[in-house]
Amino acid sequence: MRTDLHIHTTASDGRWTPERLIAGVLAEGIELFAVTDHDTVDNVLSTEALAREAGLAFLRGVEISTTATEHGNGLFHILGYGIDPTHPELLPRLDENRLKLEGTDDDDIRQLIKMGYPIDWEEYEAYTYDRERGGFKSLNFMLDKGLCADVRAFFNDIRAKLNHRWPTFLTPAEAVALIRAAGGVPVLAHPGMSLEHTGGVHAETLAPFLEAGIAGIECYSQYHDAETTAACIAFCRQHGILITGGSDYHGGFVNRKLGHPVVDSSELVLGQLLELSRVHLETGGG
Ligand SMILES: [Zn+2]
Ligand SMILES: [Zn+2]
Repeated sequence: MRTDLHIHTTASDGRWTPERLIAGVLAEGIELFAVTDHDTVDNVLSTEALAREAGLAFLRGVEISTTATEHGNGLFHILGYGIDPTHPELLPRLDENRLKLEGTDDDDIRQLIKMGYPIDWEEYEAYTYDRERGGFKSLNFMLDKGLCADVRAFFNDIRAKLNHRWPTFLTPAEAVALIRAAGGVPVLAHPGMSLEHTGGVHAETLAPFLEAGIAGIECYSQYHDAETTAACIAFCRQHGILITGGSDYHGGFVNRKLGHPVVDSSELVLGQLLELSRVHLETGGG
């Protein structure tokens, strides 16, 4: 089965609704996929229902923001597969993470006001945007106010000038425990991107995540060159953990392609994940 286990929707910063995603998945020839929005599971059940109708194998997912003290308080994403998206312990922790992310967005705007950008705080506070544009509030606000030309300009010309600081999220070990409590399987997302500025991908930098309890690593990713993918796979094989892959597609909001890198489930080690995707496909619940 052609597989893509890392896809964002309008529930977080992606541009595609569940309906549009199903059409895209079918057009691309993907047979097994997962929705993994940042710190929200809002589109998981609706996508699952559509996937079932379309005869596609679907894995419930979420991408949890964590802060790793072992890696200079860096931001690391932990994917949770097969979670119960109604789990009472999971939802408040995701809410907390989203509030922190929104707080960072607000801080950026406060800094821009101090720097002299013609922004009215109350107007910003009241501002909403069409989720099918993708991205996040401060970005879309700046675009609509004509204060930056495009997404690239926002990151290169505006955010680069700011003291943009990610908040302190839960630790990877806490995210792992939370995912397991919600019946899910924790997988470290795209270590090649996350470890880029803190030592790169090798046994020593991956070890803290293994100690935190991850059950697998997203080895196949558009962020990874062949060498990084091979290093991730070797680490997974050595420790007997799952090998996953996904595109991190955002519906075109950022420059990535759905279903790329092209991976077949036979190239992955999905273990329990295959079972979890079948359970949800067949029973339609749980
Ligand atoms: Zn990520
Ligand atoms: Zn992602």
